[in-house]
Parts: sequence; structure tokens; C-alpha cells
Amino acid sequence: MTIVLRNERRRERERMVRDQMRARGVRDERVLLAMTEVPRHCFVPASLQSSAYADDPLPIGEGQTISQPYIVAAMTEALRIRTGDRVLEIGTGSGYQTAVLAELGASVHTVEILPVLAEKARVTLGLLGYAAIRFRTGDGSEGWPSEAPFNAICVTAAPDRIPEVLLEQLAEGGRMIVPVGLTRQDLVFLEKGEGTIRRETLMPVRFVRMTGG
Ligand code: SAH
Repeated sequence: MTIVLRNERRRERERMVRDQMRARGVRDERVLLAMTEVPRHCFVPASLQSSAYADDPLPIGEGQTISQPYIVAAMTEALRIRTGDRVLEIGTGSGYQTAVLAELGASVHTVEILPVLAEKARVTLGLLGYAAIRFRTGDGSEGWPSEAPFNAICVTAAPDRIPEVLLEQLAEGGRMIVPVGLTRQDLVFLEKGEGTIRRETLMPVRFVRMTGG
């Protein structure tokens, strides 16, 4: 089952990686391989599977969306995930970004506020054989203090401002990526080191809003 699912529609993923990622400057070969491996069509509703490798976000129910593939690749590349990294993801959604992080060998801790989506993602990721994932259903705006510190934090729902509490849960040398803003959103990258936080704005984006908090 797992092997069948993972090999399905590989050609489409190779094309997606070439046209949407390499062409736009994603360079990290490990990330590009992960994007080639993870079967995105398994994370979208059955009626949308034929669009799974298009250059778009797609609805996943409950008013939420799976991010555009390029954005997932760009965020993952920015986080510089190494094998064994402890990673926190806020906003499991479909579980697609979770799978990409797990594919890179991270130990992923993922939090989703909507139980229906959390359960669906858990089933999908289980079917695909991803074992090193810890799930929590609830409000992730406070992070996951008992599991901190993390080497990387990937936020996939947009808060109004950078959540300080998440920065506190970053390890020394840790990286965080978060879409920030109410009306206009920017993808912000932060890196913790030697007592300071380096901050860089990467690109304008449109994510669903972070709720809770
Ligand atoms: N990474 C996801 C993107 C999902 S969209 C994917 O690849 O499919 C963002 C998700 O964040 C939604 O599922 C939404 O319910 C969730 N979310 C919003 N606010 C949240 C919060 N405070 N805590 C946890 N999850 C939250």
C-alpha cells in the first residue's frame, strides 16, 4: 500500500519540481528530492487530485487550504532541516508540510486546532508510513512548551505579529519561519544565535489566519 502510494504520479511531481521550484530558485537538492518523494495528491480531497501538482493552494475542507507547493519548498529550504532535528509545526492542515519535514529526517511535532483536519492528517501520514511524527490537537499559538526546545519551527497559519512565545521555544541556532500580518502578509524568517534574533523578510504570501491565542 505504502509503496504504491509513494510511487504514484511521480512524473507529475518531477515536472512540478522542475517548473515550480528549480525555475524559481529553490536549490537545496535534499528539499527538491523530498518534494519529489511526497505524494501531494494523497493530501488533497479526492475530487481535487487531478489538480494536486498545479501551481496553486487548494481547499482541504473546514475553510482551510493546503499551501502552494512552491511555498512549501521555499519555507522548508529556509529552515535548513537536518536529519534528527526537532521540528515544531503549527497548523498541520492536510499534513503535507508535515510529510515534507519528516521526509528530511526531522522528528516532527505538529499541532492542529481543528480536530477533523488533525484526524485526517494523522490517517494520511500513517498510511504513507511516516512514523516519527507527534500530533497534538489544540491551539498551537503557545507552541509546545513541554517538548521545547526545537531546532526549527514552521508556522503555516498567519498571526498578526511574531509570536514571542515561539521564539522562546527555539534552540540556540534554531530557525523559524512564519507568515505575519493581518491584511498584508509577509513570510518572515528568524534565526536565534548568540543572544540575538536575526530577522529577514522573504516574500509576500497569503496564508489562512491563525486562530486561538
Ligand atoms: N501546513 C498545512 C497548511 C494548512 S492551513 C498543509 O500543508 O496543509 C493552516 C492550518 O492551521 C489550518 O488547518 C488551521 O486550522 C490551522 N490553525 C490555525 N490556527 C491554529 C492554531 N492556533 N493552532 C493550531 N493550528 C492552527
